[in-house]
Amino acid sequence: MAPLFLWLRTVSEDSSGWEGCAYNGAMMPTPLTTPPLPPAAIAWLAALGVDSQEELARTGAVRAFLLLKAAGHTVTSRLLFALEAAVRGIHWRHLTDVDRQDLLKALSTSPPVRLPPDREARIRYMDRAQALAEEAAAQGEVPVGAVVVHRGRIIGEGCNRPITDHDPSAHAEMLALRAAAAALGNYRLDGCDLYVTLEPCPMCAGAILHARVARVIFGAPDPKTGAAGSVLDLFAQPRLNHHTAVFRAPEGEACSQRLSAFFRSRRKELPC
Ligand SMILES: [Zn+2]
Repeated sequence: MAPLFLWLRTVSEDSSGWEGCAYNGAMMPTPLTTPPLPPAAIAWLAALGVDSQEELARTGAVRAFLLLKAAGHTVTSRLLFALEAAVRGIHWRHLTDVDRQDLLKALSTSPPVRLPPDREARIRYMDRAQALAEEAAAQGEVPVGAVVVHRGRIIGEGCNRPITDHDPSAHAEMLALRAAAAALGNYRLDGCDLYVTLEPCPMCAGAILHARVARVIFGAPDPKTGAAGSVLDLFAQPRLNHHTAVFRAPEGEACSQRLSAFFRSRRKELPC
């Protein structure tokens, strides 16, 4: 019988700075085993922070499969079946034909899965986006800033300017996308990442999808107009031609505080 390990992981951030999953000391995670998973796959999953049956169940077989693919590993449908078997605690041979068809269908309709940017890059670009948000606030605009990054270089920046420009489309993301497209001489932004301090609205999400941005990393959620999960999730719509993976950055709390402070100060300026 495989040994059991006692884990204690914090809820806020793992070593990479991304939100991890919480375990309390009373839980005994079940290690992943061979069978059903090949030893190499267990090692690959561990490198991605998926090192127990519970964590694999939380991730899901399809998402885990796509994460391994995104990490550059060679993956086959047989591994997908083995991952599902590991979630269920059975041998992959015990999956029915219907189970396998359902898995392959879920794989074909899954939103894109990519690895998050590394911590250092994320902090650098979110810092720049927050500086741009400050510029917007200084102009009396809602403080939102965005940058587009291509091959480790910022190629487009934007801060919110709809009031200043008399332009309802002058959101930070739209301005950053326009600048990036001009810099590349291409309206497609394949391989580019967009960092933004606030969850994109439906207009910006549409432009991001049209541009085929690879990854969006956003700070604060927007419960009023957020189109990356808060109000709706355009990025997860299988009926749209989706190319963009979305991540919520740990810097979101600082971004939220900046927005709250801005709206507090605006309320104080309004006559009673
Ligand atoms: Zn927008």
